Amino acid sequence: MRELRALATDPEPPHALLLAGPDGTGRRLLARFYAQVLNCERRDGGAPAAAGMFAAEAVEPLPAEQLPCGECRPCRLIETDAHPDVVHLAPGDTLCKPRVGDSSHPAHPQSRDIRICQVRGLIELASRYPFEARYRLVMVEPAERLAREAAHTILKTLEEPPGHTVFALVSAAPEALLETIISRCRRIDVRSVPRDEIEAGLVAGGIDAALAAEAAAASRGRPGRALQYVEDPDLMAARGRLLERCATISIASVADRFRHAEDLATRYRKERSGIEGDLDAWETFWQEQLRRAAPERGEAAAEALAALKAVTQCREDLLTNVIPRAAFELMLLRFPRLRLDVTTQEEPAAHA
Ligand SMILES: [Zn+2]
Ligand SMILES: [Zn+2]
Repeated sequence: MRELRALATDPEPPHALLLAGPDGTGRRLLARFYAQVLNCERRDGGAPAAAGMFAAEAVEPLPAEQLPCGECRPCRLIETDAHPDVVHLAPGDTLCKPRVGDSSHPAHPQSRDIRICQVRGLIELASRYPFEARYRLVMVEPAERLAREAAHTILKTLEEPPGHTVFALVSAAPEALLETIISRCRRIDVRSVPRDEIEAGLVAGGIDAALAAEAAAASRGRPGRALQYVEDPDLMAARGRLLERCATISIASVADRFRHAEDLATRYRKERSGIEGDLDAWETFWQEQLRRAAPERGEAAAEALAALKAVTQCREDLLTNVIPRAAFELMLLRFPRLRLDVTTQEEPAAHA
């Protein structure tokens, strides 16, 4: 927020922002908020927009006259993701523009990367004036999914940016970006928020205290996730079921773990974000094991820590070219087997 405050008072916006931090910490909300800051028609006075909960740093609210009003046409359009000049570039078909003369370019709505053809479309768009905005905002997310060629091409644009377009690169793995891209961006690190702050924020927003406490605990530092839990009780129930399954699998045989890895891979193929909840649940589960492992149970604590590392590794593997099924197998096999007399089993060599 402090960085945003500095940005908001800047007469000239930076050409590119890098919003770095884990999912659910409000990176997208910050980008949208910044689009409002750039485009609000009444940026002198007016009601403050609600972004206080998503604090990159200590919350130091913008003075009212610098906040977007949240009510004018641009503010409302941006708020509802309906502004023609706020563009979201993501893996898939968005902005795909095949090379001239390439009539065989296949559609790729399911592609994993942000491709060069999309960046081509983006550059063409950025060369034109915005439809109605003062500044167009292009969100690139997840930025670490920019394919090699695409990254190099976008870099050229960042080096000679069109004055009316601001890029917002959103990434949970900024270390995977080209150093040269990072150096062109104003970086804002969006960190996780302490549980009691999230809880207080929810309560201040009129959420029932018990629900706020539960959602804040489940969110693990991510206000965006906490809001999802509050808005969708099914999601919280689903989380409970996931945690139960974690407990089942943690005592299951290697064969069962392989089967579960396959199940995860199948779901991942259908919808990548579908397994986010599973990985979250595993983190929660092992953190709980870690907490329970009293100091004298050094081994259990070490095992839980190793398991947590395995989850992180799995997330990283999924961002790179590791075959998803192999990534899930590796993670599940690295988990210790709880409450059973573990005889060391050979790890099957199936990570091809
Ligand atoms: Zn406004
Ligand atoms: Zn394409």
